[in-house]
Amino acid sequence: MRNVDVVIVGASLSAAAAAKRLIDAGLETIVLERKELPRHKICSGILSPRGHRFLLENFGPLPREALHEPTSCQGVTFHFPSMVSMSMDFFGGATPHLHRKYSDQWAIQRSGAEIHDQTAFVDLQDNGDHVIVRTRKNGEPTEYRARYVIGADGPSSLVTRAIYPQYPKSIPWFFVGQKFHDIVECPLDPQYFHFWFHPGLGHYTWSHARDGRQIVGVGFKRGDNFAQKHHSVVKYLAAKHDVTLQPATDDEGCGENFGPSLVNRYVFGKGNVLITGQAAGFLNMIGEGMSCALHSGAISGEAVVEARLRNRPVQEMYRKMIASEVRRTSDQWNPLKIAFDRPHEADFPAALMALGWRDRAKVLRDMWRFVVLYKEFNWGRHIVSSALQRPLLGGYSMRRWL
Ligand SMILES: Cc1cc2nc3c(=O)[nH]c(=O)nc-3n(C[C@H](O)[C@H](O)[C@H](O)COP(=O)(O)OP(=O)(O)OC[C@H]3O[C@@H](n4cnc5c(N)ncnc54)[C@H](O)[C@@H]3O)c2cc1C
Repeated sequence: MRNVDVVIVGASLSAAAAAKRLIDAGLETIVLERKELPRHKICSGILSPRGHRFLLENFGPLPREALHEPTSCQGVTFHFPSMVSMSMDFFGGATPHLHRKYSDQWAIQRSGAEIHDQTAFVDLQDNGDHVIVRTRKNGEPTEYRARYVIGADGPSSLVTRAIYPQYPKSIPWFFVGQKFHDIVECPLDPQYFHFWFHPGLGHYTWSHARDGRQIVGVGFKRGDNFAQKHHSVVKYLAAKHDVTLQPATDDEGCGENFGPSLVNRYVFGKGNVLITGQAAGFLNMIGEGMSCALHSGAISGEAVVEARLRNRPVQEMYRKMIASEVRRTSDQWNPLKIAFDRPHEADFPAALMALGWRDRAKVLRDMWRFVVLYKEFNWGRHIVSSALQRPLLGGYSMRRWL
């Protein structure tokens, strides 16, 4: 059985960032990935300026193969049912349009960690001074022994389930699916990620260009019909935006945990097991999760390094250190921050103020109708209490974290 300082589960961006910190500190680290690398990852690949800075500072310039066409994204365009559209450029200019299959492999390789792919995490046992990690490689059971484990295994995290079996049942689950279309006519600007605040279309509706095709994506509460939802969006785009697409050639979808950063319900682990990235609940508004995956991953690695240096429990270190990333991420959802500050990396208030007062009123009314779509999740009380905590405590209460 291999005996190492740290086992990281998942070989994505949060894992690469955690591994970089651990390897830089001289800790023997193995990254386990259930798929064969380079592996596919469903993602629009729109990187925020902060995520881009992290990649540059930690791993260097991206190779061309890690980018889709168009190779960059200028910003985001919001569309509303009243047919007002608002384009917002990212602060600091366009960012790379990541091809996750190759960008993730590039980042994990540059971290310097030893990678064991086709190795699926199954279960773990925390014995206090070490953790036994059980996996399957090509169907065969294998075990690792580590001082610490970092679960960087995404929204449906098995590491989280291993330590908090009830957690997945305590949060709402969404399905996001996208279909790929050859383009006949598409007036939507390919330099922008397009998002619809339209309650009639679904909880999350987007479209953007990729490698000569147009992606049309929909997100909704688990249980609805993907094909129907998608069809109604394609019809809407044709009727309202003059978008003519060929029938879809491919599709893909997955389950997503949208709510935790909105209502400060993160899960950071237990004992010697840390949870990070989207597995911990980090997701920015409009589903942007790469920047907070990178930063939270790096913090989980730093927490392990600090815990060893100071001989302190790793959970204590991690929870103190991760509070800054919680502030960053939950601020993006905080209505008071959105109204009176600039928590996002594109200037929504400026774009709103650039509209005439009639259009501004339409946008605010449409956004309110969109927010009401989420009423059934009973998040209102937590959103209000989180929004008030922020100025009073200077952050968000740790008591809601697992
Ligand atoms: C349709 C869609 C579009 C998106 N678009 C964007 C976007 O444009 N911009 C953006 O910033 N974010 C976007 N996101 C979100 C973004 O993809 C995630 O937030 C981000 O990838 C999270 O990174 P992570 O490292 O936490 O986990 P993930 O990227 O989810 O990676 C988890 C890794 O763990 C592996 N794994 C899982 N289970 C096991 C196991 N049992 N054993 C071993 N390995 C395992 C997986 O194979 C995977 O490699 C999008 C998400 C979706 C679904």
